[in-house]
Amino acid sequence: MYCWICTNEVAEFLPYGLPCRRGRCPHCGAKPRGRLIGWLLKEVLYPRMPPEARVLEAGASKFSVQQLISSGAVDGPRCTVIDLRRLRHHHRLKAPHNFVQMDLTQMGFGADSFDLILCNNTLPYVSDDYRALSEIRRCLKPDGLAIINTHREPGRTMGVREHRRLHPELSDDYYAVNGDQRVFGDDFFDRVSESGLGCEIATAFGLRSEEFLARNGLKRQNEILFAYIDPSALERCRHQDIEIRGALARREMSNYET
Ligand SMILES: [Zn+2]
Repeated sequence: MYCWICTNEVAEFLPYGLPCRRGRCPHCGAKPRGRLIGWLLKEVLYPRMPPEARVLEAGASKFSVQQLISSGAVDGPRCTVIDLRRLRHHHRLKAPHNFVQMDLTQMGFGADSFDLILCNNTLPYVSDDYRALSEIRRCLKPDGLAIINTHREPGRTMGVREHRRLHPELSDDYYAVNGDQRVFGDDFFDRVSESGLGCEIATAFGLRSEEFLARNGLKRQNEILFAYIDPSALERCRHQDIEIRGALARREMSNYET
């Protein structure tokens, strides 16, 4: 098997997450979603963005900072990372990339600042998701694109306190890994739309063989949520390995894992 983030041959991908699934790279820690996002940035989005473009990542993971922004493996435009806290991995960001300690629900950037905003499994940890999404919309350029992914479960969105009452079998670790403020449900897309962002679900590598997916540590249903102000921004996502599924597909998506 092969991890295309660190370009290492891999004897086997390791287990990760709750519920546990297989797919973590023993060398760089990339999981299937990280490999998907890395590919999307490197092969699809960054080549179509001007050198002066600006990227914002809200709540970037250690993997994202080390392997997608700082390593040079993905050569992209200037990226600003924000987080409520300054963590050790944020110190690895070197110019032109930078870290700003900032609340996603109250960002200090001007309107229309970013060409691309990445928000990968950050919203379940944010106190007010509506304000966070509204801030993403405000700071996104009119022709910009946001990629907003989150852990979801069937049913409606619930605060963690209510979810815990209904699921006493789940451990503290479950909420640490998947979100400590709320568990998003099928109405996630409606919540994105309420902020004024349009959104479309896409899947990647759906036409590829099982052998291709297994060898590269990918999942059959690699779901991506693209959010935008103007639908023309979706033109940047056009690629033979990406299928934009349309609004009806949102209700049908069965893969809730991130
Ligand atoms: Zn790797």
